[in-house]
Amino acid sequence: MSHLAKTALITGASQGLGACMAKRLAKDGFSIAVNCYPSEQDIANAHEVAAACRELGAEVEVFPADVSDFAACEEMTKKVKERFSTIDVLVNNAGITKDGLLVRMSEAQFDAVTSVNYKSVFNMCRHVGAVMMRQKHGRIINISSVAGLYGNAGQFNYSASKAGIVGMTLTAAKELGPRGITVNAVAPGFIRTPMTDVLSEQVREKCLEAIPLHRFGEPEEIAGAVAFLAGDDASYISGQVLVVDGAMSM
Ligand code: NAP
Repeated sequence: MSHLAKTALITGASQGLGACMAKRLAKDGFSIAVNCYPSEQDIANAHEVAAACRELGAEVEVFPADVSDFAACEEMTKKVKERFSTIDVLVNNAGITKDGLLVRMSEAQFDAVTSVNYKSVFNMCRHVGAVMMRQKHGRIINISSVAGLYGNAGQFNYSASKAGIVGMTLTAAKELGPRGITVNAVAPGFIRTPMTDVLSEQVREKCLEAIPLHRFGEPEEIAGAVAFLAGDDASYISGQVLVVDGAMSM
């Protein structure tokens, strides 16, 4: 791998979609900055993802940081820039769920989900956006959800956070566009990851009925959409939300 390889920073990449995106972008020739939550288990998982990226020929390093923490994101951005010189692609992927019906939802449930899923996107766009502005190029890809576009009963906090990401994507596309930076969102439907593995068989069956392709998506199918938006073929696409849901929300 040449030292001129572009660098992609992916948040929440110790498992699930983020891990899959890291491997796909490594295969596409990017150097990879793997962010994970700073717990022992997540760091160990992130190192496994890093090893897989290295086997694909990528330069890679793990950067543990809680993306809901503004100062931690600033520190991580500095470290990634020092290690790789540029940050060409930022994928804001980290996310959690704490589901519950609106009238039973606690303030803690709401705050936890909005700070990890939504405020993190501000934190990362704020710091990495400044780096990209100076570089005069960059791609930001925010992972939203169909729940943010159409709502989902039981996910008031999650839907709010994912809808907020769309607003941030559109505004950042307008503000950063003049510096050659594109900003897009990907809105997955139901994808087979640890996040959806916890769904009951009953919920799973109900979901499948609503999906014309009659299957859950695979992580590789989201990673493919991210790779497209990060790649040369998407150079004139900005301010868009790419829905990848097997026609579920049509
Ligand atoms: P996942 O397997 O649970 O992965 C999410 C990752 O984010 C985990 O590695 C998690 O670490 C990490 N994370 C959580 N809080 C963090 C924090 N404060 N700082 C840094 N990292 C943190 O979920 P997934 O299915 O891959 O989801 C990835 C993204 O896609 C999320 O934004 C999710 O909302 C979105 N999405 C997923 C689906 C789907 O069907 N799977 C559909 C629509 C949208 P821990 O393991 O420590 O929590």
